Amino acid sequence: MITRSILANLYRSTVSYPLNTGAKIPAVGFGTFQATDEEAYSSVVAALKAGYRHIDTAWIYGNESQVGQAIKDSGVPREEIFVTTKVWGTFHQKPLENLEISLEKLGLEYVDLWLIHWPVPLNPNGNSPRMPTNPDGSRDVVPESEWDFVKTYELVQEAVALGKAKSVGVSNFSIKNLKKLLAAPTTKIVPAANQVELHPLLPQPELIEFCKQNNIVVEAYSPLGSTGSPVLKDETLIAIAKEYEVSPATIAISWAVWRNTVVLPKSVTASRIESNLEIVQLKDEDGERINEIAKKNGPKRLINPPWAPYVVFND
Ligand code: NDP
Repeated sequence: MITRSILANLYRSTVSYPLNTGAKIPAVGFGTFQATDEEAYSSVVAALKAGYRHIDTAWIYGNESQVGQAIKDSGVPREEIFVTTKVWGTFHQKPLENLEISLEKLGLEYVDLWLIHWPVPLNPNGNSPRMPTNPDGSRDVVPESEWDFVKTYELVQEAVALGKAKSVGVSNFSIKNLKKLLAAPTTKIVPAANQVELHPLLPQPELIEFCKQNNIVVEAYSPLGSTGSPVLKDETLIAIAKEYEVSPATIAISWAVWRNTVVLPKSVTASRIESNLEIVQLKDEDGERINEIAKKNGPKRLINPPWAPYVVFND
């Protein structure tokens, strides 16, 4: 369902998708990565006032307390907001402890979606327990012979019966990793969602199709290209934006919804927080033009932590 806004062709999104749990997830969610404490608080208050009903955070972002406070202070009832947080790599062997910390910080009884942030267990006693910084990340990655994400997910599922997560899922999972997870006898709950980097420079159509076949909702993170929003400099996107008389950001976000994915734009700028919730109904031919962008120069991954090329993106 879409409601008409003041400007012609521009709508404030109230689109949502059904999860495999039966719950609904709002298509346009609000990102909080790289927001400072103050920014996280004020931007989440502003987002909820603007009409977002889906907030995406993570333990590693370090801003769950501010996000939780903003949710409380917004006056929007808890049950109207879809809240996601994520297990960090250093907690793979005890994910429920991570969830307890997240819930405490958020000041919430439960989250709506709890994701394994990366399919990579990290050594909690490694060089840099929060964020490995050595060139290939390998020193801080727990060897697969000791632990893997299948074991993590087995524990993560327990949160649903405990009532601490309404649904569980994954993030940064490739098709290969999803196949491994789905084939494991310990996997009793099909992940509700897979949150991955998705934008016109990295459209990942095969991954979207695999998730669709398996009833897993796909969430597009860094939809504008993350820091500095490089995606918005693409000439095709700019041309389409001119035709619709909207910004390239609106086209990037609308394209994600046209593809039936969740999309998680982040902004700490009041005007952008508001405008990123407004989308246009893209014509199929324009959606297809955007699909072609990455075919010209090849897909471009912009989020690339040190361990990822070795253990996540190599299939
Ligand atoms: P985005 O692609 O959302 O881009 C954010 C950047 O775009 C910021 O610099 C922001 O600036 C700018 N921006 C926002 N709106 C506009 C606009 N309308 N016009 C021009 N520039 C704009 O990046 P993120 O990497 O933050 O991704 C979004 C969310 O996805 C994250 O916040 C997080 O919640 C999630 N995520 C998940 C990951 C995972 O591993 N699961 C990894 C990365 C992100 P400003 O804020 O100054 O307005």
